[in-house]
This record gives sequence, C-alpha cells and structure tokens, in this order.
Amino acid sequence: MTKDQENIQRMHDLVDQLNHLAHQYYVLDQPSVSDAEYDRLYQELLSLEQDYPDYILSESPSQRVGDQVSETFAKVRHSQPMLSLANAFNREDIDRFVANVYKELGKQVEFVCELKIDGLSVAINYEKGRYVQAATRGNGEIGENITANVKTIESVPKKLSEPLDIEVRGEIFMPKSSFLKLNQDREAAGLATFANPRNSAAGTIRQLDPKVTARRQLDVFLYSGVFSEDLGIHSQADLFAKFPDYQFQVNPLHRTCHSADEIWDYIIEMGDNRHDLPYDIDGIVVKVSDFDQQEQLGRTVKAPKWAIAYKFPAEEAKTQLKTIEWTV
Ligand code: NAD
Repeated sequence: MTKDQENIQRMHDLVDQLNHLAHQYYVLDQPSVSDAEYDRLYQELLSLEQDYPDYILSESPSQRVGDQVSETFAKVRHSQPMLSLANAFNREDIDRFVANVYKELGKQVEFVCELKIDGLSVAINYEKGRYVQAATRGNGEIGENITANVKTIESVPKKLSEPLDIEVRGEIFMPKSSFLKLNQDREAAGLATFANPRNSAAGTIRQLDPKVTARRQLDVFLYSGVFSEDLGIHSQADLFAKFPDYQFQVNPLHRTCHSADEIWDYIIEMGDNRHDLPYDIDGIVVKVSDFDQQEQLGRTVKAPKWAIAYKFPAEEAKTQLKTIEWTV
C-alpha cells in the first residue's frame, strides 16, 4: 500500500469508528469513550479529509449534525436547521477564527462569549404566547418530539405575558445537585448510576413517562431563537438583554468582547472557575454578535461560520475525584 492509500484507508476506518461512537452517544445515551477521545479521533479525521478532499465519504460525521433520530419519539421538522459548532482547542485556533471573521467582514466586530453548557440542545415553540412544542436537535433537520417532557421543566414558561409566535433554542442540562441526588437514589435502589450530568440529562429528556422527567429536575438556558424582527432583537447582545423580559432564562455569565485578547481572558477566567458552577460546562462559545454580520458570514454543511466552540482540555481525573468527594 502507498502512503496515500494507507491514509485514505485510515480516513475511512475513522468514519466507521466515529459513526459507531456517535450512535452510542446520541441515540443510546451510552458513550464508551470520553469526549476528549472522540474529539481527538474527529480532529484526526478532519485533518485527513483536508489532505484528501476527493475521498470524503458522504456518511462522514464532518458532513452531518448529530446522528440518526431515535424511533421512540415522534419526529419534528425544524423551522430552520439546528447546527453543530466548529471547535477550537487553543489560543491559535481562537486567533485564526477572529482574524478570519475580520477578513470576511472587512472590519473589526463585536463578539459575545458564552458558557458552553454540557447538555443537549432543544427548540421550544410558542404560538400566541402558549407553549406548544419542544424538540431535540436530532440530525439538525429533524428532531424528536419531547413536548411533554420539556413541559415539566420549571424554568420553561408555559404561557408568555405577550401572545407571541416564537421559537426559542437553548441547552437542557441537569444541575450537579440533581445529578448527585439522582445517582444516590439509584445506588440506594440497586440501579446503575449515570456517568455524568450530560448523559443523565439526555436519558431523562427521553423518558416515556414525563413524571420521571419531572422528578429529576432538569433546567434550561436559552441562547437563540427564530423570531420576528419586530421584537427589536438584532444581535446576540440584544437577545441576552431582552429574553429575560419574556421570562426566557438565559445564563448570566455572557460577556461582550472586542478582540482575541478579551476573548482569551474570558476563556481563562471561566475555565479557572468552572468547577464552582452548579452545572457542567465543557467549553466557551464565541459568537459574532450582530445578526446581519452572522448572515453575511453564513455556514458550512454542519456549523455556522460566525461562531466557534472552544473546548476545555480533558480533566477526567479531577472530575472523578470531585464526584467521590461529594458522594461520601
Ligand atoms: P459540540 O458539542 O461541539 O457543539 C455544539 C453544541 O453546543 C450545540 O448543538 C449546543 O447543543 C451546545 N451548546 C452549549 N452551549 C451553547 C451556547 N451557549 N451556544 C450555542 N451552543 C451551545 O457539537 P455537537 O455536534 O453537539 O457534539 C459533538 C461533541 O459531542 C463532540 O465534540 C464530543 O465532545 C461529543 N461526542 C462524544 C462522543 C463520545 O463517544 N464520547 C460521541 C459523539 C459526540
């Protein structure tokens, strides 16, 4: 085999392996490797795909969002695709992202930095101010109908103060306190415990009995939506300022930044303090704030070009220790 043939073979083996892992993670809620290991294999695939663009398989995880949608729930077609995010792992990746945005837009712009909540994304629809439907991201085009389960989340408003037609999107998560209590209860009952709050949130939102979901106390932070221009929300900064007026819960720790330096300071600050938060985060999302500029930048097949997710370095050993401290 030539070196090229070997690389192409490796590329195709990685697609099989990553697809298998994605099925375990997204559909079965039972990952068999850490996120860091998945990310390492995925980055290896991306780098090979860059070298051999003519050999990219259509079933490659780089060509789609998430995985197939489970058959357990009714399917919902999203009003607009729910995308993934491109990843950054170091300062150079952030610098490159910022420089590329400036280059594409021909000027310096404002960014909003947010915590990357480690949960699963949801789209929630209101008609005339009434809660009518909630869906998972699924494969980005089609998600699972989880209306009854999301309705049990206390912080999700069921009736808005104004008769709005609006879709809000965000992350459902399980607070650390709910996760610890759930695992303690399960251990006492002789049941298998959940590996982490993200898996347990994903399993909980896909319960067939909404009463089980209600007992496990999930929560949500909203960070985007599909809505009319009349709301006067023209940027991510506007969205964070105005969503609370409609009872939509947002994470308060977002920050407007004006340079790669400011973005990096935020990443370091939040990374240093992340274990003190009452919920898990796995990184920082950096977004171009202005919606017109976002539209100008556009998207790839899988992710917007106006945002990037910085992933914190893996800290498995530390998390393990902390879990033990809490449970004794
Ligand atoms: P992603 O997790 O890298 O980023 C996209 C997601 O971030 C969004 O869909 C949204 O749900 C979430 N998010 C959280 N806070 C947000 C915010 N403030 N603004 C916008 N989005 C926010 O991409 P992905 O496609 O959801 O998943 C890929 C990741 O899933 C991998 O990098 C890996 O970490 C994990 N994964 C792990 C395995 C495994 O076997 N362990 C398998 C597949 C995927």
